[in-house]
Amino acid sequence: MPELEQRLQDVYDEVTSRNRGDDVFHQAVLEVLESLGPVLERHPEYVDAGVVRRLVEPERQVVFRVPWVDDDGRVRVNRGFRVEFSSTLGPYKGGLRFHPSVDVATVKFLGFEQVLKNALTGLSIGGGKGGSDFDPKGRSDAEVMRFCQSFMTELYRHVGEHTDVPAGDQGVSTREIGYLFGQYKRITNRFEAGVLTGKGPAWGGSRIRTEATGYGLAFFVRDVLEAHDSSLDGKRVVVSGSGNVAIHAIEKVHQLGGTVVACSDSSGFVVDEDGIDLELLKQVKLERRGRIAEYAEQRDRAAMGSGSIWEVPCDVALPCATQNELDDKGAASLVENGCTVVAEGANMPTTPEAVDVLREAGVTFVPGKAANAGGVATSALEMQQNASRESWTADDVERRLETVMRDIHTACVTTAEEYGAPGDYALGANIAGFTRVADAMLAQGVV
Ligand code: GLU
Repeated sequence: MPELEQRLQDVYDEVTSRNRGDDVFHQAVLEVLESLGPVLERHPEYVDAGVVRRLVEPERQVVFRVPWVDDDGRVRVNRGFRVEFSSTLGPYKGGLRFHPSVDVATVKFLGFEQVLKNALTGLSIGGGKGGSDFDPKGRSDAEVMRFCQSFMTELYRHVGEHTDVPAGDQGVSTREIGYLFGQYKRITNRFEAGVLTGKGPAWGGSRIRTEATGYGLAFFVRDVLEAHDSSLDGKRVVVSGSGNVAIHAIEKVHQLGGTVVACSDSSGFVVDEDGIDLELLKQVKLERRGRIAEYAEQRDRAAMGSGSIWEVPCDVALPCATQNELDDKGAASLVENGCTVVAEGANMPTTPEAVDVLREAGVTFVPGKAANAGGVATSALEMQQNASRESWTADDVERRLETVMRDIHTACVTTAEEYGAPGDYALGANIAGFTRVADAMLAQGVV
């Protein structure tokens, strides 16, 4: 791990002491600070304006009680969060995650990642994130609805189309966004479409928003391979996860000529040498909300794997499940089996140790803030449609998404070159995102 120069070390020390125990947040901050030395060297005005110090401190953090009644009439209490990290480039923007692991550290790390990711999209969106430790698994629709209504009964006072615009993340998809939107509309008596993204297309949602993160990831990988005079054609691809991001990454990888031979959920992973059957996977995971083993049971040549999904030989690996799922051991297996590209569909799924292993072996590593930005970019396109009361076609949205991903790719590549680290997508993404936010912070004064 490179040594931080003293002024960045001071910022990091401040972050760790002010956010004691928030390990994933420290990890996300350190990963960015490690890229910033050369930028501060070139731009002393950023140092004078305290840009980095301000960037690592959220503008506002809201923590609230979410009481609700389950189907047996029992009162349940969860905790809700919204961390409004940066409004420099636009309204706070980022998803809500409903998962038992959600705590303030998780939301802070995700909010911090979101600031630079959203800057990279080139669209006018600031960064934020929220969620709850509510576990939707095994809950009835009615329970999920009551939870969402209670959650919004507090959240509504903090959000708005010009203030803060939440969307989905793990455990939050169109169903939850619908319940949240309905409650916001009832409380405020406003059909304020732009207050949430990821809505259904019939009530203000953008076409392709559901597919966007996974599609965008596949487009980005195509661009990476093209930059290496290669393509997805005939490539073996491993995708961890089987949620919204993974499923649509698999779909687009297949359309672009690659074959996804493995995917997973929290209960294990499946290997299918014929290529994952998307229809079956969607039935099992989206319609039945079942376990991945049901997929293996229904396909002749598919079987549940043993060990780790990263031991499945592949050319391209796309971690699309959750943070820190790919460790140094997994990275070493990927290297050993000849993998050449790792691109993050999830937020920070690769541990710092794993990134070191990949780097040393010359594997191209693309961080989530670049590779998975297609989701939030399409959310920004949804906001544009809401503002103009338009509804674009799927083709139109997909072409715009493709352009955004290509522009992010170009920004990463040219910035990395400009800073003497060609091919370093992590450095390119951090610096390109950071300078966009930093320049706007300078313009707006110390706020
Ligand atoms: N949760 C997604 C992300 O991690 C999307 C957020 C959004 O669309 O606002 O970027």
